[in-house]
Amino acid sequence: MSRATIINGKEVSARLKNEIKEKVHALGVRPCLHVILVGNNQASLVYVRNKANACEECGIASTTHHLDESVSEEYVLKLIRDLNSDDNVDGILVQLPLPPHISQAKVISAISPLKDVDGFHPMNLGLLLSGEPVFVPCTPLGIIKLIEETGIEMEGRKAVVIGRSIIVGKPTAILLLQRNATVTMCHSKTKDLPMVVREADIVVAAIGRPRFVTESFIKDGAIVIDVGINRGQDGKLCGDVDFEGVSKKASFITPVPGGVGPMTIACLMHNTVQAHLLRRQVKSGRLA
Ligand code: NDP
Repeated sequence: MSRATIINGKEVSARLKNEIKEKVHALGVRPCLHVILVGNNQASLVYVRNKANACEECGIASTTHHLDESVSEEYVLKLIRDLNSDDNVDGILVQLPLPPHISQAKVISAISPLKDVDGFHPMNLGLLLSGEPVFVPCTPLGIIKLIEETGIEMEGRKAVVIGRSIIVGKPTAILLLQRNATVTMCHSKTKDLPMVVREADIVVAAIGRPRFVTESFIKDGAIVIDVGINRGQDGKLCGDVDFEGVSKKASFITPVPGGVGPMTIACLMHNTVQAHLLRRQVKSGRLA
């Protein structure tokens, strides 16, 4: 029997998008997001479509540059340079992953830090680390907002983040640390993973392995945030957490789908509006 309260990411993200829509309305102009998608990765196609729909909902203008899988790295870099210098463009997002012949690091570094709404540019990651972020990466920001939704203070809690990617695990750990949680980061070389995770009041699973985190990993009453998006053997979408088992022990849990995923998109909308406001400040000379 399920005991955990489900943190409804759809509801929280709908609320956030509503706030953004009102903010955009008050601005009187539509912030503008450009998305670059290379190839036809099925998951990426869905994500990009969802992002465009969310822009529409929030009153944000969006353009998708859907490029052929075989496009050259130089073409992508040139497109980014053009978008960087286009005054009508507020945010630039390159949908990952890219095909192997295109360097992800080069492409991300080519985006102007002022338009880097994903927050992956080394300069933005550095600012995040220094505690003065301009753009917080969308999924980690969404994760924090979902934890806040529980009403439970992060300060002093033991948090375990499983996964150390630059797009999810590392920034999430930094954000938790900035909220005074005591953070442990785990990865594929962590010894006795279930034992480490059992210490946690807050568990963030960002691994990419279907239903990897089971009931036996979880301390009674823990908050469990499931970032994973996987296809299970039954072909259905599932997370990194075994929802049925874990929800018997957790106090709060996010579902997949309907948890972190919608928050990532809502936070992208938030960052796009931030990018617009930031460039306004720069143009008006209020920010050197
Ligand atoms: P990566 O593949 O970049 O990173 C996975 C991490 O998990 C690595 O740090 C890896 O460790 C660790 N890991 C792998 N196997 C194990 C194991 N057996 N035990 C402990 N740690 C392990 O994935 P991402 O961070 O990009 O994504 C993680 C998941 O989140 C995926 O399912 C992805 O689809 C999903 N995702 C969801 C988003 C959303 O909006 N909901 C957004 C982004 C991602 P090591 O570093 O040692 O290899």
